[in-house]
Amino acid sequence: MKEVDLVLGNGEKSSLPAIVDAMAESERGALPAHHGAISRVETSEPTGIDRFLGHARAFVKIQEGCNASCSYCIVPRARGPSRSVPAAAVLEQVSVLQESGYREIVLSGVHIGRYGADLDPPGTLGDLLEAILLRASAVRVRLSSIEVNEVTSKLIGIMRSTDRLAPHLHIPLQSGDDRILKAMNRSYDVSGFRRVIEEIARAGDRIAIGTDIIVGFPGETEACFENTFELVRELPISHFHVFGFSPRPRTRAAAMERTVSSERMRERSGRLIELGRAKKRVFLESHVGTTQLVLVHGHAHQRSSLIRSLTGTYCEVLLPRREAARGSLVSVRVSRFSEEALYGTPMEADPVSNPIAGACAR
Ligand code: SF4
Repeated sequence: MKEVDLVLGNGEKSSLPAIVDAMAESERGALPAHHGAISRVETSEPTGIDRFLGHARAFVKIQEGCNASCSYCIVPRARGPSRSVPAAAVLEQVSVLQESGYREIVLSGVHIGRYGADLDPPGTLGDLLEAILLRASAVRVRLSSIEVNEVTSKLIGIMRSTDRLAPHLHIPLQSGDDRILKAMNRSYDVSGFRRVIEEIARAGDRIAIGTDIIVGFPGETEACFENTFELVRELPISHFHVFGFSPRPRTRAAAMERTVSSERMRERSGRLIELGRAKKRVFLESHVGTTQLVLVHGHAHQRSSLIRSLTGTYCEVLLPRREAARGSLVSVRVSRFSEEALYGTPMEADPVSNPIAGACAR
């Protein structure tokens, strides 16, 4: 495409300003349009970021790529095999962000449960979390999505022992039917998934569990869907993300025969979304009367006297605007649930004056 000047690999994002400067200084076209490879072996170093403009939370990528081969997913082909960012580099990045005033850091990656397996010496996500919590005493850490068979007892133990690891696990289910899970080439079956979720629930009723569900995968019959519906209805899962199956070119699932009509897919998605809303409501209500550590993250809306905050359990609590500074991590008493929202009052202020407060627009 003649209008494209440059194509970068994912690992080159952080070099973009330097590359653009170099292009500006050189004659147009002096750099090859395909700069570097969209490489399967590119490194995955953090980038020394100290600001996430418009966000009260910061994100640290600890891992890239995936060794699994789910039949609907293009990620392993696009991002290559799993590579971990060395722990020292992660710790350095977390320190920079803490220093900049961030009070919640989300550890992200394509497949973070595999963290450390490729390092020498190998490490684990649990080891990394312990090191971060030791080093960065002013931040709360939250995990992004994690696969069910990578939720370890150590991880649950850390979550129970400190409120600086958000009690929130997002564990993709995708389907609650063994035949569909097999066709998806997922690495667990329904009973294995159920066992882990029940173990988490036994460990503490205040750990929020979210999930992703794909509706309308090829071969999903009415009975398969009902199995999924019943499973998530029974299990203590409070946050659903529901996706209609959409084939990704060059995946195995793209070659499978589409057996679920768009109309049926909409109907099934609608039922799950409705169930998710009802379960979320019950979960929200269970917070009334409790004390929560929340991250204050933005105005409810322009002229509102309320400000929004986020619990470790990924629930929003509205607070009086004058009593909580954006960007701070404070304890609040949740007083009521009304019109689908939680309301609370801060019990103490974040003693650290927060330099990112002005930057948190939402
Ligand atoms: S769905 Fe997740 S685990 Fe499966 S291949 Fe894609 S990135 Fe890997």
